[in-house]
Amino acid sequence: MINLLIMGKPGAGKGTQAKKILDHFNLTHISTGEIYREEIKKGSYIGQEAKKYLDQGNLVPDKMTNDIVRGVLSTTEFENGFMLDGYPRTISQAEALDEMLNKRQIQLTAVINVDVDDDIISDRMSGRRVCSNCGETYHLEYQQPKVDGVCDVCGHQLIQRPDDLKESVLNRLKIYKNKTQPLLDYYEQKDLLRVIDGENSSDRVFEDILKKLGEL
Ligand code: ADP
Ligand code: ZN
Repeated sequence: MINLLIMGKPGAGKGTQAKKILDHFNLTHISTGEIYREEIKKGSYIGQEAKKYLDQGNLVPDKMTNDIVRGVLSTTEFENGFMLDGYPRTISQAEALDEMLNKRQIQLTAVINVDVDDDIISDRMSGRRVCSNCGETYHLEYQQPKVDGVCDVCGHQLIQRPDDLKESVLNRLKIYKNKTQPLLDYYEQKDLLRVIDGENSSDRVFEDILKKLGEL
């Protein structure tokens, strides 16, 4: 079993790498951001609560997020392992996760941090577009769809995520620094952290990830 955690600032390319890793190792994906966006689309109670935070780029309260992950971890069978994406994002979430994993006697294999400088982040974020239907991501410059404004995968319209607007991005970066960055030390101390240079091409970044995981 390979149980990974993937971390990175908003716009670090975490989502792209997550997909490659998932396919490669056939892991179960647990993305709290995706779970929240699904709930918002459904208009569920969780979705309505979460939307207040997501649109501004704020974190959903820890208790709600921990409860969701606890639910997923306790009801899912992982054949090959899992990849947690976007969770934990605070020390208290990390502690909650440790407790959940201990209870099930599950070990983390590694924590991957896709590392990118701030100035590159804002450039990447302003051009990012996502499919309003399937969530596939594109970039106006670096990863254009075949037809302008239209998703290659499902043909629906591409939009800018509300939390990709400039104000929200700056807020998300600030929150990342204050709340999430301390997790790097937390996992370094457990000797789990693998830092990857995220400023290269996405294929190169993926190669580096495999190398650091001892695959190549
Ligand atoms: P990013 O593109 O920044 O990696 P995600 O898709 O992981 O974003 O998450 C989008 C939003 O969902 C976050 O800005 C936050 O509002 C909410 N969210 C996702 N994961 C968590 C979490 N672990 N704790 C609190 N809020 C979360
Ligand atoms: Zn689509």
